[in-house]
Amino acid sequence: MSDDWIDKPYDAEQRFAAARGKNIAPDFWQTKKLEKMTPDEWELLCDGCGKCCLNKIEIRREVKFTRAACRFLDCESGLCRIYEHRFDKVSDCRLITLEAVREQPRWLPKTCAYWRLDNGLPLPDWHPLITGRAASVHEAGMSVRGRGTVSESGVKDYEDYVVDWPDL
Ligand code: SF4
Ligand code: SF4
Repeated sequence: MSDDWIDKPYDAEQRFAAARGKNIAPDFWQTKKLEKMTPDEWELLCDGCGKCCLNKIEIRREVKFTRAACRFLDCESGLCRIYEHRFDKVSDCRLITLEAVREQPRWLPKTCAYWRLDNGLPLPDWHPLITGRAASVHEAGMSVRGRGTVSESGVKDYEDYVVDWPDL
């Protein structure tokens, strides 16, 4: 299969730089409900942790995360390699909507900005919106980067890959 549609390396900083030129209120996440956010504000909430790209299995109505990631997640950088084409190429890649955030059992990590705000919790101090830097999620050890994630491609039994990270 041709890899022509694989994106150039994604520059996470660029997402925040682009937002600076837009009319986005400072601290909008403290003053607006998720329901009221603009698409640009909504997009900025994502911290880029990549934990929603980990495969999960459900055991007794509880979602267990595995360290086996979507085959399009770059396990070194923790970034999606096909971000612009993700919904065309991966049938179970989820759009993060309010309904998805509220789905039970919970499948987003406890650190996920959408889940936190929807549950009345503040953004963590390492969140890129607080630090002003996309890399801070990785520096805080809160992303998938450097945590032994593997591509799902070679995985036979997901139960062998279940992880119990405290930030899930
Ligand atoms: S878990 Fe939440 S904050 Fe992290 S990458 Fe997914 S949507 Fe973004
Ligand atoms: S295609 Fe979707 S699930 Fe796969 S790495 Fe990209 S954003 Fe994550």
